[in-house]
Amino acid sequence: MAVTIGVLGLQGDFALHLRSLRNLGVESGMVRSPEELNPCDGLILPGGESTTFINLLKKTGMFEALASFGKKGALMGTCAGMITLSKTVVRGGIETLGLIDISVERNAYGRQVDSFTGPVVVDALPGDPEFEGVFIRAPKICSMGGDVRALGRAGKDIVMARNRNVLVMTFHPELTDDTRIHNYFVKEMAGKR
Ligand code: GLN
Repeated sequence: MAVTIGVLGLQGDFALHLRSLRNLGVESGMVRSPEELNPCDGLILPGGESTTFINLLKKTGMFEALASFGKKGALMGTCAGMITLSKTVVRGGIETLGLIDISVERNAYGRQVDSFTGPVVVDALPGDPEFEGVFIRAPKICSMGGDVRALGRAGKDIVMARNRNVLVMTFHPELTDDTRIHNYFVKEMAGKR
């Protein structure tokens, strides 16, 4: 089945997600309005700045559109995109979509090591489970509800998780040439609704 994947293009590094999807040969397009979301089987929320995302989602009517899309449609969030999809932000007080039952802490690695790369182990990937994790002012997943399962770990930290239709990660797979995580989202989630 051919699937169409949108990438939220209001702010942040959406262009590189489109590149990953193009490299996989997946039909894709930028989404900036509820109308552009309609034909999509799945949507990726990129990294950027979560407070800015929330403001722009509200201004464009996309906050409500995503809340309703997220009841069935497949969603993937990286970094700020993950924060936007989460249920709670600890010490945050920012309103989020609450489409995946996780609590997150923003900028959780502090200033000293605010950006780094390191190995992530993702057992759900075919072949070598190791994936290069690019972390940029990354959040941490602090807790997860019962319908959420861990998919990726970096040391002791859970850095990738999913529920039925929402996939999140604290790192940036679109900054590598490795398309296996995008492929997982397209095939195992957006393609199996
Ligand atoms: N620190 C950003 C935030 O809190 C996320 C950074 C990123 O998306 N790379 O929203």
